[in-house]
Amino acid sequence: MRNYYAAIQFWSYALLVVCLCPLAVLLGTYMDWPLGAAPLLLLTLPTILAAVSSPRICYWTITVLAVCACFAEILFRTDLSEVNTTYLFSILSAAVLVGMTLLIDLYIGKLRGTISQFDAQNDELVRRLYESQKESTSSFDNKDSVSETESDETSDTDSAEKDVNYPLLLLTLQDIGRRISTNQSNESLIPTVISTAKASLQCEHCQVYLWDSKVRALKNPLPARSRDKLDYRPDSNQGVAAWVIENRQIVMRNDADQDYRLKRILEEDPHMPDAIAPLTVGSELIGLLIIDKVDLDSPTIGRLIYILSNIYALGIKNSQLFKRIEEMASRDGLTGLFNHATFQEKLQQLTKTADAQSTTLSIIMSDIDHFKSFNDTFGHQAGDFVLKEVARIWKTVMPENAIVARYGGEEFIGVLIDHEYSQAMQIAEDLRETLENCPILFEGQQLQVTASFGVTEYKHPASNTNEFVRIADEYLYKAKENGRNRVVGMAPNSTRKPSS
Ligand code: GH3
Ligand code: MG
Ligand code: MG
Repeated sequence: MRNYYAAIQFWSYALLVVCLCPLAVLLGTYMDWPLGAAPLLLLTLPTILAAVSSPRICYWTITVLAVCACFAEILFRTDLSEVNTTYLFSILSAAVLVGMTLLIDLYIGKLRGTISQFDAQNDELVRRLYESQKESTSSFDNKDSVSETESDETSDTDSAEKDVNYPLLLLTLQDIGRRISTNQSNESLIPTVISTAKASLQCEHCQVYLWDSKVRALKNPLPARSRDKLDYRPDSNQGVAAWVIENRQIVMRNDADQDYRLKRILEEDPHMPDAIAPLTVGSELIGLLIIDKVDLDSPTIGRLIYILSNIYALGIKNSQLFKRIEEMASRDGLTGLFNHATFQEKLQQLTKTADAQSTTLSIIMSDIDHFKSFNDTFGHQAGDFVLKEVARIWKTVMPENAIVARYGGEEFIGVLIDHEYSQAMQIAEDLRETLENCPILFEGQQLQVTASFGVTEYKHPASNTNEFVRIADEYLYKAKENGRNRVVGMAPNSTRKPSS
């Protein structure tokens, strides 16, 4: 998107500079100005605008264009006499334009450096504030115990006010928001959630469980070795976790004193950590945030957990949506198999690995026989249903690590990893037989289709991705020519003669 805007910007400035060239010649001639004066007057503004608003490569190209325009005027001015003409002003104008761009370039570079320095200082400030608050909280606790005998009411208000460190809170939230919004994969987001929660809540343990609404179960998304060492497993069917899931409310261990229903539930769940917060977006539950060994007496802790859990829930939901969109973009909508573009991408990677590590790859390519007349006879809906069934058969028959895709309308393709030609031929034969012998039931009718197959092994002789697919396609075509409903492949070391 950014490149798109940069390209539009560049071409607009370039067009402007080119259009202003003849105007400069006319103005110079009409006003009888020395060479260079009119281009300088007309091109200064676009050059400055380009320098402050577009990428570096773009504004330097515009500057070069403007310099060329200064000298182009020499060729077109007819009013100047040979004797009196001096190019000094043209050179001067070009130097002024280059000088201006250079100055802006230096200033922008300095500004960028300051911004990144500011970001680094901000990070450092947040880190220091986390630590200093930790220290001040502990010294404040000591002070509290000494002055316990003093007036209770005043000290309570003071303590609440001193505990609410608003600058820290804002910086923490800003920092967390930035980290969460720049993390788009759950794999790196969850550790960020945990580390920022630990730093800002000053708790010893923090865990995130994700909620799977289909099976109504909680799942820790981190591998066992990277999980926090908290010995508590939330149960979605009983105890406090079940209560939080149902009521979508934060529960803290000291809440039991305020709510008699919670008291009973907390008694059932004696290992309950200090706090469990639901991660929700609207009415949707995303997961649970589990906090332990935190200062429950701090008056801001409940509020902070509430704000953080909302930010985390949004971040996690965002990354889940991002993953789903990526997944949807890589799959074919009808069959759920990989689409053509994703297949090409994966095949490129596989052939690259095969080139480097000499692994074996084979391709099976197939095309349903007479599918056009099948559609004409049974209708496109029946045709669509058959395509889904054929995809299901491919998924069942092909090995788990194979890459299976819908290559085109009724063309399917599969890459077999660590399978040589003879094994690929056998699998293609299994696919062909299964299709031939499995009638497909659609709205009370028994439908049946057959398909033709082309098979080839990488490096025998294909030496690149395009050739690999092309040979499989060539042999699929031969299967069609030889009468359809058959497998034809190119055996290694054979000259281009089909074997079936
Ligand atoms: P051949 O045995 O030579 O492959 O004959 P054919 O009729 O299968 O070959 P052709 O490539 O001419 O026809 C492919 C047909 O596949 C055309 C189109 O109607 C059908 N088709 C392609 N995509 C879809 C789809 O998504 N749904 C349905 N129902 N039909 C599709
Ligand atoms: Mg076809
Ligand atoms: Mg066909």
